Amino acid sequence: MISTDLIIQNAHIITVSARGEIANGCIAIKDEIIIDIFEGENKDYHSETVIDANGKLVIPGFVDCHTHLVHAGSRANELQYRLQGMSYQEIQQKGGGIHASVRDTRAAAVEELYQQSLERAKLCIKHGTTTAEIKSGYGLEPATEKKMLEVIHRINDESDLETVATFLGPHVYPQDREPEAYLDWLLHEGLELAKEQAEFVDIYCDVGAYSYADTEKFLKAAKAKGISLKIHSGQFEALGATGLAADLSVVSADHLDHVTEAEFDAMLRAGTVPVFLPGCSYYLKTAYPDARPYLDAGMPVALATDYNPGTCPSLSIPMMMSLAVMHMGFTPDEALTAVTLNAAKALKQDHLIGSLEKGKQADILICEIGELDDIIAMFGVNAVSTVVKKGLLI
Ligand SMILES: [Zn+2]
Repeated sequence: MISTDLIIQNAHIITVSARGEIANGCIAIKDEIIIDIFEGENKDYHSETVIDANGKLVIPGFVDCHTHLVHAGSRANELQYRLQGMSYQEIQQKGGGIHASVRDTRAAAVEELYQQSLERAKLCIKHGTTTAEIKSGYGLEPATEKKMLEVIHRINDESDLETVATFLGPHVYPQDREPEAYLDWLLHEGLELAKEQAEFVDIYCDVGAYSYADTEKFLKAAKAKGISLKIHSGQFEALGATGLAADLSVVSADHLDHVTEAEFDAMLRAGTVPVFLPGCSYYLKTAYPDARPYLDAGMPVALATDYNPGTCPSLSIPMMMSLAVMHMGFTPDEALTAVTLNAAKALKQDHLIGSLEKGKQADILICEIGELDDIIAMFGVNAVSTVVKKGLLI
């Protein structure tokens, strides 16, 4: 018998790999890694910890590849504005929106920011998210941008949630300083900070956010420094930045509610990961984009929450899967791939996480239900009963 740290047996496994589904299988884990995964009963492996899944669904841990999890304060008051019919842009003009989070995040001491963010990280894990990308961008000035990156790393080091840091210094233009002066900081010191402290840089190009011209400057400067790129584009209007970003080899383009045909073709050519964020459409009550053309073209389509305190205060990946299937043309299998393997691709982590295969990190969910369809059907219900992160039961 080969000694292991953990065995999960009698499991209905969806591997999200070429191997597909295993009706009744077993996973053996040692030193954080899946060392074997096979059909049938376990005869070869021994462990002091054996979990009997009782035929329930076992899937890879969810990867939330787009969040704004680190911020101080709440914007729950904006729900009332929204119900009165105010748009996202109108709320922002009233000093709400991103600027409200900027004020609260600047004012919070680093420990306070960490504690508030840690509570959300714990909720992510509870809902099956084992890795989350987290962006800066509620500082819009150097000290707070640094503070946010510090907190993102601390969550990775001190909690069960693995994090990937993205520098989103160009989230919106700051209200209290010259946009040119801030852009100058972004293009020089900001990018140096990103190179040291983040895996990716990101910019929000849309009405009410960064212009096409500034987006081009920022992405080209980041690329010249060898930093991997992401973009928020096409949420409210197609300003051309999605195509520009694809031509600059961004790893992912996120939102994509409004995309021209030429931009679609550019993404296909470049192998860009399209990331859809259905929680924003739900909460802003805007139309859901149709993901079918992207899926049919064979693009590695991903889904994420875009958790943020204003336009998607939900961090439930299963809810996003349900919305994607009911409103955006995904099949349940495509939705699962979108929140695991393809989300890992959006973070350049697909060699490590996102599927259940020999040699991959043991990030595994055991569900209360037996079939993938149940996750989609039971919207709003958290079907995750057990979370395994790097081989450890959480
Ligand atoms: Zn976002």
